[in-house]
Amino acid sequence: MNVIAAAARSLADRAVDAARSLTRNGEGIDEHQAVVERVAYAATEARVIAELAEAPPQVAAAAKIAAGELAVSVRNRLEPIAPVLGLGELRYDDAARAAIAELITPAAVEAIGEATIAAEGRMPWPLDETLTEVRSNVRAFADREVMPHAERIHHHDELVPERFIDEMAKLGYFGLSIPEKYGGHELGNLAMILTTEELSRASLAAAGSLITRPEILAKALLAGGTEAQKQLWLPRLAAGEIMAAISVTEPNVGSDVASVSCRAERTSGGWHITGAKAWCTFAGRADVIALLARTDPDMSKGARGLTLFIVDKPRFDGHELEAKQDGGGTLTGKADRTPGYRGMHSFTLAFDRWFVPDAQLVGGEEGIGRGFALQMAGFAAGRLQTGGRACGVTQAAIEQTARYVAERRQFGRPIGDYGLTRYHLGRMASRLIAARAITYAAARAMDGDERAAAPVAAMAKLFACDVAVEVTQLGQLLHGGWGYAEEYPISRYVADAQVLPIFEGVKPVLALKVIGRSLLGR
Ligand SMILES: Cc1cc2nc3c(=O)[nH]c(=O)nc-3n(C[C@H](O)[C@H](O)[C@H](O)COP(=O)(O)OP(=O)(O)OC[C@H]3O[C@@H](n4cnc5c(N)ncnc54)[C@H](O)[C@@H]3O)c2cc1C
Repeated sequence: MNVIAAAARSLADRAVDAARSLTRNGEGIDEHQAVVERVAYAATEARVIAELAEAPPQVAAAAKIAAGELAVSVRNRLEPIAPVLGLGELRYDDAARAAIAELITPAAVEAIGEATIAAEGRMPWPLDETLTEVRSNVRAFADREVMPHAERIHHHDELVPERFIDEMAKLGYFGLSIPEKYGGHELGNLAMILTTEELSRASLAAAGSLITRPEILAKALLAGGTEAQKQLWLPRLAAGEIMAAISVTEPNVGSDVASVSCRAERTSGGWHITGAKAWCTFAGRADVIALLARTDPDMSKGARGLTLFIVDKPRFDGHELEAKQDGGGTLTGKADRTPGYRGMHSFTLAFDRWFVPDAQLVGGEEGIGRGFALQMAGFAAGRLQTGGRACGVTQAAIEQTARYVAERRQFGRPIGDYGLTRYHLGRMASRLIAARAITYAAARAMDGDERAAAPVAAMAKLFACDVAVEVTQLGQLLHGGWGYAEEYPISRYVADAQVLPIFEGVKPVLALKVIGRSLLGR
């Protein structure tokens, strides 16, 4: 596999170097968006192959298939842009081509599929003792408490049951990556990812996404909160005592975060928030909203005019909310209906002179104008976490599909006996191994220098979310018509997976503006 990893890396590096010069060290990305997107993908896939080469021996067979397929993909992604980049002919050398061909033979892929069906889709990944315990404890909890309710919550678009939050709080799931001195468990990002993955395997919306928001706010506070704010808010987040929502997006502002227009105006002892927000997930149940608002009305200041606030609000359990403050401030909201990701409820909100005390401006006076940077620090953690969510949904789809194809019979045999079914399952399994390889590597990297690790976390998010979409859809296909029936969980997985490439940086923008910039910038 090392031959392939080196060959793919070399091809991707050549493309990155050429794109760097084409875009004048990233300054001209927008003049060459299609080129940069392909380069970002190729570099991401080359990075995944490198992580696969380090995968534990127990998953080596599936890892090799994933690496071989990705090496082909790296080349295919770059081929159409090779002339623009002046790369000449894009060929792997004979040794690499032979190695790739040997790894991805149909027989090798089918063998993985057959093993996956026999194991009912369970895909072990060896971990140390502590992490093994984390994973198995969370799985036991998720199987017992979450799974039996996941379908009902989805069908009726119910809110996440309070019991889940209470139990998860007791088990310490909200404080896994928060430092001990602030009330967390400091088990690190991989423990947090494994927890997220197992919860998402049971339900993306009813459990797997509950940790995301506290994680984003905690990382923003750690990056730029005052000491008093860290001491006040982090222990409460870690204990699950308060639930947070994150509010950046507005009806007319999505990817272009620097254009946020919801404003915060100074008043006696604090700030008045006025404006509209959109897609604020869990805003009903949340106790606080981490909200990005414009404190400098001069729009030409862009991102430098934005500040992050921790906004208190009362809890609501329905699809609508309406709150009034003594001083006259109002907050109203309505959840937008969605085909999946139900349970969390994502709201369009209207704030009118909603009061927030000075103490809840993140970073204090020094935090004024730093909201964009702090929010982005939070999003780096959110993206990593979403890599874990994607792995969980993918795992669930593989298990359901493996069981289904073993039982479903056509033409006198279980459909899992057919070579093509096994081939598909082999690919599904190998794609999950690849998604885990990059996500777990990103988690470990985030335990070190978070800023330096942010681009890898973005790659993990980009890649793992694509895998979730692809694998859930393949699983649905293998269920035939029943995959389209709401009573089969695979249809929920398909609907849930679709949202993953959209939030925390919609896929094309993530590739261009986060991964592309980090690769091509000086
Ligand atoms: C279920 C759900 C939950 C969400 N939860 C939250 C939440 O809790 N908090 C929150 O703040 N937000 C949340 N979001 C919002 C999410 O983060 C945004 O939808 C996302 O950032 C994209 O913004 P947008 O929808 O406005 O798309 P846009 O920014 O309008 O992008 C749409 C498309 O336009 C193209 N595009 C945009 N800009 C460029 C460019 N510069 N170059 C090339 N192409 C471009 C891309 O193809 C992109 O896919 C949620 C969204 C959903 C669907």
